Amino acid sequence: MAALLEESLAAGAGWLDISIPDQHMVLFRSYYRLLEEENAKYNLTSLEGEREVAVKHFIDSLSCVKALDFNNKRVVDIGTGAGFPGVPLKILYRDMSLVLVDSVKKKVHFLDLLVEKLGLDGVERRWDRAETMGRAEEFRESADIVVSRAVAPLNVLAELCLPLVREGGYFLSMKGPGAEQEIDEAGKAIELLGGWFEKRESLRLPFYNEERNIILIRKVAPTPEKYPRREGMPAKRPIR
Ligand code: SAH
Repeated sequence: MAALLEESLAAGAGWLDISIPDQHMVLFRSYYRLLEEENAKYNLTSLEGEREVAVKHFIDSLSCVKALDFNNKRVVDIGTGAGFPGVPLKILYRDMSLVLVDSVKKKVHFLDLLVEKLGLDGVERRWDRAETMGRAEEFRESADIVVSRAVAPLNVLAELCLPLVREGGYFLSMKGPGAEQEIDEAGKAIELLGGWFEKRESLRLPFYNEERNIILIRKVAPTPEKYPRREGMPAKRPIR
């Protein structure tokens, strides 16, 4: 009989219309163990237990596949924390290249341990701020997809993420309830930064029935030179 983590992952995968092969199940198990071992030290997550982590972290992260294909894409995860949603996606889509970004050094240290333990190739870890990366030539307008879960209100997040997306690429924002209002309030920021609101997918997590929203924004024009503003400004004076 499968343990609760694997059983919950399999059920969640069924809900997403994907399958998680055994060799990937093993990686999710290792990820879970490392979270458990290191959580106290790095303050990574408030979730506990196999089902909760499987559904609210792993399956929730994988729900991005409802909106986009990640095969072979260049993906940046802004404010990834303990690796969500980037690392679960990378476990399934081995051909994608991934840059995990967090402004807190100890979280990036956890990501180093994680990537080594799971043996993942093509995963860069950066201790950096999105605002700084958005102005760096190496990263500006270069990603196929920028993902972000639970980092800031959408109008702030648009300034952190959209500068990194190439024209024709996507910014995918993962939100809980209340997404509709955030989208309304972010309309001006999205347009100013070269984005176009494409759609919102509303989901309910299996087992917990909690609402999740995937907001998909397409990059249709270059971001003006003056954005992103300097570190901290997007949150301090959000575009309204
Ligand atoms: N995405 C993860 C973590 C969310 S918590 C998850 O869903 O579980 C938000 C994370 O964003 C924190 O780890 C914080 O350090 C990081 N963060 C906040 N502002 C940031 C910025 N401007 N640039 C990079 N990382 C940022």
